[in-house]
Amino acid sequence: MSEPSQRGSRGPQALIFESGSPGRSAFFWPEETGASGIPDALSREEIAGFPEMGELEVLRHFTRLSHLNFSIESQFYPLGSCTMKYNPKVNEVAARMPCFALLHPLIPPELIPGAFELLTELETMLAEIAGMDAVTLQPAAGAQGELTGLMLIRAFLAERGNPRKKILVPDTAHGTNPASSTLCGYDVVQIPSNKQGIIEPEAVERAMSEDVAALMITNPNTLGVFERHIQAIADAVHRRGGLVYLDGANLNALMGIAKPGHMGVDVLHINLHKTFSTPHGGGGPGAGPVGVKAHLKDYLPVPRIVKSGDRCELRDDFPKSVGRVRSFFGNFGILVRAYTYMISLGSDGLEDASRMAVLNANYVRKRLENTYFLPSPEPSMHECVFTDRNQQKDGVTTLDIAKRLLDYGFHPPTIYFPLVVSGALMIEPTETETRETLDAFADAMTAIAREAKEEPAVVKSAPHTTPVGRLDEARAARRPVLRWEPGGGD
Ligand SMILES: *Cc1c(COP(=O)(O)O)cnc(C)c1O
Repeated sequence: MSEPSQRGSRGPQALIFESGSPGRSAFFWPEETGASGIPDALSREEIAGFPEMGELEVLRHFTRLSHLNFSIESQFYPLGSCTMKYNPKVNEVAARMPCFALLHPLIPPELIPGAFELLTELETMLAEIAGMDAVTLQPAAGAQGELTGLMLIRAFLAERGNPRKKILVPDTAHGTNPASSTLCGYDVVQIPSNKQGIIEPEAVERAMSEDVAALMITNPNTLGVFERHIQAIADAVHRRGGLVYLDGANLNALMGIAKPGHMGVDVLHINLHKTFSTPHGGGGPGAGPVGVKAHLKDYLPVPRIVKSGDRCELRDDFPKSVGRVRSFFGNFGILVRAYTYMISLGSDGLEDASRMAVLNANYVRKRLENTYFLPSPEPSMHECVFTDRNQQKDGVTTLDIAKRLLDYGFHPPTIYFPLVVSGALMIEPTETETRETLDAFADAMTAIAREAKEEPAVVKSAPHTTPVGRLDEARAARRPVLRWEPGGGD
């Protein structure tokens, strides 16, 4: 028998296949029309084990399950590097307008000038924010943007006689950077960051040669620290004929304040699903537009949207283009959401968003800096990275802290990333959180640090309040147990 707390609407519940009762149904067909009008040969009398339930039972089952989801609309979600900001509902209203939502991808462009107007305006706004000369909206994610950007670099260098062999990638980089380099046929050379967690121009200088096609750099980097030497680093790469790729996933700290195009960057991607507030998580869809300086424009994917007078045309007569990287025009619904977000905030609003994101991260940092170990003394931008060094002497690790946060009702921060920081806890509050929420989170983190000292066993066995407790993550993935047993443990 389940605990009293589990019998109400909030506790674990039986699988749908264990629920219901024979003869129950959500709907009864009028006798005279027979079984639904479907030919008898096609309709089954019975499906073995099929749950028979009333409509309300079905509704409650799935509504309760949906409440087990952790979402930005229910709780604070400080998952570093992911920019889990609130996605305003007006974005959804725009994306659902029939004029956008019902467009068939094969409609001739001349019949839908408004949709193309939106796409060109979005390209222009992104180019303006990033300080670049042209943008393609085709890539469907940041990672695909990286690959596209590297393909542009390869095409540019190949035309000059040598596509070169290597890409320089800092040791703080997101895993997609080396993956994209490899996929594009390049060898990866890792650049070590210094004690402050940033790259020094000398390190790049030493690694630079006529074999190096590009440096991929993230700014602010994955420690949430601004790469203050970026201009000197870019100069060192350019002097030897290489190009600079900026991983723009962290644009949330810069928009309206600083433009990557002014820092010596030749090509960058932008994650619309992070910075520009389109829903993400669970694998997409997203959008990873790529911006370039003029010298890379001819290589951009086709078809390109070209504006002549007040008409937009789709053109693929760009002989140097790397070709198509995505069917149709990217994830159009995501592009409509990002456009709506930008238009509704305006340039001042976007700048405010960046400033608030930086302020919020530094507020959390200040509140926790005497409790958790800070690996980099550099000021934080939009996220701050702590480690479990202070808690480890009591045997409590980053994973334990993350799991214990669930009991306090918070999504854990990103953990064990970036890889260069042992036991990293990477907190990105974003601009959409109130001071009260940040205080509640900092209070929970402080309480967990106190528990780590006084009753470490509680932290080490967390979570205690979720429908399932701590999983053996490797075994959970390989041998999933999909049946919930009342009182059957985890
Ligand atoms: C999220 C992220 C990426 C990858 O972007 P996706 O859209 O998830 O493919 C690359 N680099 C950094 C720094 C990121 O945070």
